[in-house]
Amino acid sequence: RKIGNHDLKPESLVMGYGFDPAMSEGSIKPPIFMTSTFAFKSARDGEVLFRQLAGKREEGDPEEADLIYTRFNNPNMEVLEDRLTLYDAGEDALVFSSGMGAITTALLACAGAGTTILHSSPLYGGTEVFMRTFMPDFGVTPFEMDAWATEELILAQARKAAAKGPLSVIFTESPANPTCALVDIRACARVAETIETETGHRPIIMCDNTMMGPIGHAPLKHGADLALYSLTKYIGGHSDLVAGAAIGTEAAISKIRRVRNYLGTTLDAHTCWLVTRSLETVQLRMEKAFANARLCAEFLRDHSKIGKVMYPAFFEEGDPQKTVYDEQCQAAGSTFSFDVKGGKEAAFRLLDSLQLVKLAVSLGGTESLMCHPGSTTHSGVSEDIRKRIGFTDGLVRFSVGIEAAEDLIADLTQALEKV
Ligand code: PLP
Repeated sequence: RKIGNHDLKPESLVMGYGFDPAMSEGSIKPPIFMTSTFAFKSARDGEVLFRQLAGKREEGDPEEADLIYTRFNNPNMEVLEDRLTLYDAGEDALVFSSGMGAITTALLACAGAGTTILHSSPLYGGTEVFMRTFMPDFGVTPFEMDAWATEELILAQARKAAAKGPLSVIFTESPANPTCALVDIRACARVAETIETETGHRPIIMCDNTMMGPIGHAPLKHGADLALYSLTKYIGGHSDLVAGAAIGTEAAISKIRRVRNYLGTTLDAHTCWLVTRSLETVQLRMEKAFANARLCAEFLRDHSKIGKVMYPAFFEEGDPQKTVYDEQCQAAGSTFSFDVKGGKEAAFRLLDSLQLVKLAVSLGGTESLMCHPGSTTHSGVSEDIRKRIGFTDGLVRFSVGIEAAEDLIADLTQALEKV
C-alpha cells in the first residue's frame, strides 16, 4: 500500500492489490477459480478451518482462515473484497449475488427481532418494500425520516424508534433514488452516539451508496459503519452483470459474513472476476460520466420544456442540502432526475423520441439510460409520498454514460423538439 512513506492511491492499488502472481503461475491477472470446494491439507486442517468458520478459534490456530467451500470464500471473492476496501477506506468487505442480496443480508444480520430500524425516504423500490413488508414479519419495526431531514429531526425520529425497541440500524440511501436528496451522514453518526448514551445500544449506520458510487461519495469517511452497493451499477459499470457489496468496519462485516454463509447470497467466481476487471476502470469511467452529466444537466436546466433538474450540484446557497453536498460529496454523480413540463405524456414523448440514449431501468453503465420511475422502478410509491418528495408525473431519471457529450446533447435536442 506504500512506496517508502508514499501512500499509493486506490486507482494504482486496484490493479494488483490482494493478488500475488507467484501463487498462480505468474499470471498477471487472477485466474477464475471455478471450483465449489478446496482440498484440506489434512483432516486436522479441516477441523481447524471449521472451528475458525464457527468463530471458535483456539490457541495455536492460524490467524487467517484458509479456503473451504465457495459459498464461504473463494480466491476471486477474496481478491475482489480486498480491492473493494480501497476506494471506501473500509476495514473489510463482502460481495453478494446482487445489490438486494447485500442490503437484505446486512439488514437480517444487524436487525434482530424486537428491534427497530430508522430509514431515510425515498429509497430504491426493492429496499423500501423489503423494509415495509418483510422486516415486520421478522419482528423488526421500521421508522421513516425524510432523506433531507436535519439533525434535530433525525434525532427526534431515532428517539421515537428507540422508544419502541432497541434501535438496531439507521439505514440511509444517499443520494436517494430518484430525487438525489442527500442524507447528512455526519448527523446520523452524532445521533447514533446520542442514542447509545441514552439507551446503551448504538445503531449501525448503513448507507446505500449505489447512486453516487465510491468516486463521488465515501460514507465511511463521514461516520457510516457500512457502505452498501449494487455493483450492478457503477462498479460493474457495463450493464452486463448483477452483484452487490458491503464495505465497512471489521465488526459489522463479520456479523454479516456469518449470515451470508447461511443465506448463501454469495457472488460466484466468474462474476467476481468480471467485477474485479471493472474495478480497474471505475474511476476513469465515472469521471467521464460525471463530466458528461454536468453538461447534460446544464443543457436541461436551460431548456424551456424542462422544469426542475434534480442534480446535486444545483442545490442553492442557503439550502441545508448544499451544505451536506459540499461537506460529503466529491462529485455530483452522473444519475439525476428532471421534470418534463406537461407531465407523464410529455415525459413519455421524450423517452420514445430518443435515438442514442436507451430506454431502460438501471444506471451506472457505460451507455446512457433514461426511464420514467413513476411508472417503473418507483410505481409502488404512494401518491402522498410522491408529493412530499417532489416526485412529479413528468419526472425522468437519466443515467449519463461515457458517450461523446455532444452526441448526447444532440439526442436530447431532437427528442425535446418532439415534446
Ligand atoms: N440500491 C439502489 C439505490 C438501486 O438503484 C438498486 C437497483 O436499481 C439496488 C439497490 C438493487 O440492486 P440490484 O439490482 O443489484 O439488486
